[in-house]
Amino acid sequence: MNLQDFWNEAVSQLKSELDEGEFSFVFSTLEFVSSSGSKITLSVPSAFFRKQLEGKYLVLLEEKLLELTGQKIEFAFSLRKTETPKPLEPEKRIDHADVPKNSKSQPRKAHTQLNPDYTLEKYVVGKNNDLAYSCAVAISKDPGNSYNPFFLYGGVGLGKTHLIQALGNAIHKNDEKAVIAYVPAENFVNEFLSALQNKTTSAFKNKYRNVDVLLIDDIHDFQNKKETQEELFNTFNALYESKKQIVFTSDRPPQELKAFAERLLSRLTRGMVADLQMPSWETRLVILRTKMEANGMKLSDDILELIAKNISTNIRDLEAALKKIWAYGDLLKREITLEVVQEQLKSVFAGPAQQNIAIDMVQRVVAENHNLSVQDLKGKKRTQAITLPRQIAMYLIRELTEYSTTEVGMEFGGRDHTTVMHAVQKIEDKIRTEPIFEIKIQNLVRTVRDRARS
Ligand code: ADP
Ligand code: MG
Repeated sequence: MNLQDFWNEAVSQLKSELDEGEFSFVFSTLEFVSSSGSKITLSVPSAFFRKQLEGKYLVLLEEKLLELTGQKIEFAFSLRKTETPKPLEPEKRIDHADVPKNSKSQPRKAHTQLNPDYTLEKYVVGKNNDLAYSCAVAISKDPGNSYNPFFLYGGVGLGKTHLIQALGNAIHKNDEKAVIAYVPAENFVNEFLSALQNKTTSAFKNKYRNVDVLLIDDIHDFQNKKETQEELFNTFNALYESKKQIVFTSDRPPQELKAFAERLLSRLTRGMVADLQMPSWETRLVILRTKMEANGMKLSDDILELIAKNISTNIRDLEAALKKIWAYGDLLKREITLEVVQEQLKSVFAGPAQQNIAIDMVQRVVAENHNLSVQDLKGKKRTQAITLPRQIAMYLIRELTEYSTTEVGMEFGGRDHTTVMHAVQKIEDKIRTEPIFEIKIQNLVRTVRDRARS
């Protein structure tokens, strides 16, 4: 075997050993260039990326190659020329040729309730949203007949409003005569309540039961609104029977909608249900680049990578970070460097507020991750299989919450605070010396933060 074969073998072994996100972070942009003697030259897209690599992944690569070849392999890096960077594709691109185009290609008048910027063409597609996106495309071609109703859910800022409006815009573009109503659930509720008060409910019914497409955004706002739910139920039945398209968005899955009439819930979900997740960092990079270009901004790849890596809350936050940085350069006429970005986005990069992270939630996450029960973590057993997860849980709680070591000890079967301190020390050491362990901890932190938000 030559060194390139060993390299390929190392990559394929690491693929099964590393977490998927980390693997693609390292290897989607790293390219084998050449080898000579015991040296491998790899190319990287940017200095920033190379620094990231040298920080922790290099050890991993060296160890792997030592294991495979029996000798110490050295690595050299070359920067890829900017005109031929390997594009950072989102996991899957869906051909936008699929999106129905206005056959006469005349500009049509924008729909008054829909934001013309929210189009399917501007929606960046990745593994996180491809199902939802494909449904939207299918519906836009044949509203009422493919996925009806369509229930789209996902956390704040993940693109629900953009997608539901893009769907409306696409239908409008194809068929200007189609009557499309887009309404945030809150407005629907308020309109209905004032119709009740003013005794104009028949006008209200007329309005919403005579549309071809009804798009209701944020239906979690119907929780506890009994009368409006009743009205929605009747509207739904009228539209559904005459094969009119209905689309809902919600910030949570249907089963988590509280205080919803059972029969309404069962109708909302009888068609297609799809969710939106946070995009992977490569897709985040594509989104940043798209938004940057759309706004005529210019920022270096290093900067975009830094933002994409550090903001993993939602797309709205990504956009806000981009705007903030741009405004800084634009207003102050200063050069935007990596350091400026670090400084300006310090508070955003620090992560979301953590006050709602509960001890028992962290314990559950760690227990699930290790196929243990929370009782195991709190209990007395001191086998290796339990001790390490227990220490991980203690460490995460200390890192992510304000609980004192004494309080944490209490939550682990009344252990002493020195036990907690020892656990934290142990995990910190392990993180410093074992890159794979560090990745594992980072993943757990992400899971805990995601749970705290949901
Ligand atoms: P939600 O309604 O889920 O809270 P929005 O639809 O308002 O989220 O999205 C927040 C911002 O992020 C919007 O400016 C939107 O254009 C942008 N955005 C969300 N998802 C995408 C995507 N897949 N591609 C491009 N921009 C997106
Ligand atoms: Mg929204």
